[in-house]
Amino acid sequence: MSWGHGRGGDEDDESFDEFRENVDHAMVRILFGYGRSRLPLLIFGTLASVVTRVLDLIPAFILAVAIDSLFFDERPFGLPLVPEAWLPTTPGEQFALLLGIVFVVYTLEAALNWVNSWAWNNFAQHLQHEVRVETYDAMQGLEMEFFDNKQTGEIMSILNNDVNQLENFLTSNLNTGINIVVMVGGIGLIMLLANWQLALVSMLTVPLLGVASFLFVRIIQPKYYRVRASVGALNSRLENNLGGIAVVKSYTTEEFEAGRVEESSREYFEANWDAITTRIRFWPTLQLLTGYGYLVTLAVGGWWVINGAPGPFSGELTAGYLVMFLTYTQRFMWPMRQFGEILNSYQYAEAAAQRILGLLEDPQTLATPAGGETLERVEGRVAFENVWFSYESDDHGSETVLRDVSFAAEPGEYVGLVGPTGAGKTTLVSLLLRFYDVDSGAVTVDGHDVRDLDLESLRRSIGYVSQEPFLFYGSVRENIAYGAGEVTDAAIAAAARQAGAHEFVEELPDGYETMVGERGVKLSGGQRQRISIARAILRDPDILILDEATSHVDNETEALIQRSLGDLIANRTTFAIAHRLSTVRNADRILVLEDGELVESGTHDALLERDGLYANLWRVQVGEVEELPEAFLERTVRGRSNAED
Ligand code: ADP
Repeated sequence: MSWGHGRGGDEDDESFDEFRENVDHAMVRILFGYGRSRLPLLIFGTLASVVTRVLDLIPAFILAVAIDSLFFDERPFGLPLVPEAWLPTTPGEQFALLLGIVFVVYTLEAALNWVNSWAWNNFAQHLQHEVRVETYDAMQGLEMEFFDNKQTGEIMSILNNDVNQLENFLTSNLNTGINIVVMVGGIGLIMLLANWQLALVSMLTVPLLGVASFLFVRIIQPKYYRVRASVGALNSRLENNLGGIAVVKSYTTEEFEAGRVEESSREYFEANWDAITTRIRFWPTLQLLTGYGYLVTLAVGGWWVINGAPGPFSGELTAGYLVMFLTYTQRFMWPMRQFGEILNSYQYAEAAAQRILGLLEDPQTLATPAGGETLERVEGRVAFENVWFSYESDDHGSETVLRDVSFAAEPGEYVGLVGPTGAGKTTLVSLLLRFYDVDSGAVTVDGHDVRDLDLESLRRSIGYVSQEPFLFYGSVRENIAYGAGEVTDAAIAAAARQAGAHEFVEELPDGYETMVGERGVKLSGGQRQRISIARAILRDPDILILDEATSHVDNETEALIQRSLGDLIANRTTFAIAHRLSTVRNADRILVLEDGELVESGTHDALLERDGLYANLWRVQVGEVEELPEAFLERTVRGRSNAED
């Protein structure tokens, strides 16, 4: 048994509170929900466990019979439940029978132990697997908002720690718990039947053990919590420092950082030492209690055997029964030491089950009507009708990000989205992808409100190249083919060529089979961007969204993409969010957003003519003026501070 892995106190769970389902019996619900098909295994394993524990009691009883009837001849030979006529009569045969019983018992016990472990582990491992997969699946279906407001670490912790906690409880603690019940109940009963008076003496220490074990867990819990908190803090510090090692070195703050690490490490050391000293005091205490319990039983029982019933006791006690009592006393007390741990681990497993259920049953899934409309072929007419939108954040109230935005893009139109940082450009395309739902108004595709469409069908028709091109760990080939199903190498290479990626991919060590992404070959921002553009091209979407698609791209690449942009945007409605206005210069229409409002709309030439915000931005970018007019700067600053809020 391991006291060392105890989980922390209540504080630990606070950050997860929002994942808590306010339901009782979360664990039972998970057991019966996910484990139902394998419930027979669980019952089978439990039965095996119970029978093993009962068998465990027999050898000591056999020894008692051997001592009393064969070694000392104090009682006639007899076995409970066995008719006398069936028993052998010579001491040699009787002894052989006893040996035979012990042989069978131990053999059977070993076999049942195997059955028990197999059944329990089988049940627990399958349950763990199913719960993890289901939980991940449920998590994936949650609204974007959920991910905005949660720390990745918390979600990871549910998928890992909580699911493991459940498995751990099932395979070790629940099994031990059942053992305690059977042993304490079974042995107690046998002892009471054999000699209830001496049985009471032996049982004196049992409640003490239970209480001591319970108190210990109560005392050690906060200490374990402190250990985990401090090791967490130490790890974050180390991770942070290693990540920022270039800054540390360039600012020559090594000494300062070494000091901070020393501080974190000392806190960890002290917390650990505190827990260890508590723990190493507890074990001798338990041993003392069990030892004294044994001593008292031996004293009273021994006196009884030698001199007859002492004081208030009455009846007869044989040496054999005393030996049996002493053996049972130990068996009886041993599992009680784990009483506190079992209770405690039950609490943690229940909390883990609650968090898992909380995630599984989170109501934040987008409300897509069952059997929402499926779009076979999208023409690509996209319209925003009086759209208002604000993010709901946990910490600060919601602020309106889009105000009454209306426009309509015709199929095949190339629409540029420009405006200062924080104006709401990314938000606007997120609404089209239905990462979020509008507060009021509507976003429509080919005249269908996106909320009425089948989510998968909607998103399948949209290609999205995000601001931060993300590559999964895998080959370049897999990254380009991501989400496109079965595609030929030629199609992949063609898409890569269009995105200006083919040349550099060819030069990578393994060409298209080179592993990229985290742990893979490091690519420049521009190269990642080009791969992610190739990914969008390959899907041949009806609607294409390029979110600052050229922001990571160097001038040379941009020129390359610009050249192929003609092919890229042909026959599909394209939204391009651009900081470099040259990217959208040729757009059919440019939408200018400012502080959540659509302030201008038109072609490049028309907007220059208009001499508004766009014209100002353009002049700055082409270097016609040194800086923006005062009034515009103010607005930008306002936009920025919104963005940073
Ligand atoms: P742009 O793409 O024009 O730079 P965004 O659409 O990214 O602007 O952001 C518009 C506003 O919405 C900003 O004020 C920003 O802080 C806020 N915002 C963006 N994403 C989120 C989010 N996930 N949760 C809360 N606020 C957000």
